[in-house]
Amino acid sequence: MEPISKSNKSNKSNKSKKMEIATEPDIYMPSMDEHGNYVDKITSFTKGLRCPCGTRRDKVYKTTSLFSTHIKCDSHKKWIIDMNHNKSNYYAEAIKTKETVRELQLIIGDLNNKLANRDMTIEYLTNQLHGKIVVPTTTNLLD
Ligand SMILES: [Zn+2]
Repeated sequence: MEPISKSNKSNKSNKSKKMEIATEPDIYMPSMDEHGNYVDKITSFTKGLRCPCGTRRDKVYKTTSLFSTHIKCDSHKKWIIDMNHNKSNYYAEAIKTKETVRELQLIIGDLNNKLANRDMTIEYLTNQLHGKIVVPTTTNLLD
């Protein structure tokens, strides 16, 4: 016997994880020009900006002027050129990634349901063990 539940309670640790992410610096993504090429365009940021180019991926640029200096360096320029050379690969990768995310969401949803069912079963059995639940005895209604 397994109680069925579709409850999808968000727990506390989930919320604190989201708040952590909200204070993380943004990841820079170049814009696309009218020909579909990646070009540098700095948009405003408040929590700092990290650039995925080069080897110093963990470096956080605190101001737009520091970042505008960074995008003039050779390694950043080369990164933009490489991105434009690999555009079709990125597109194929993006489609694959989207599919993977969809599959993972289904798996997570299924695991969430199983976990919720187990939580309820454990709670039920624990209560039964401590005598909080009176197990109904079978009565013959025909008598
Ligand atoms: Zn860069």
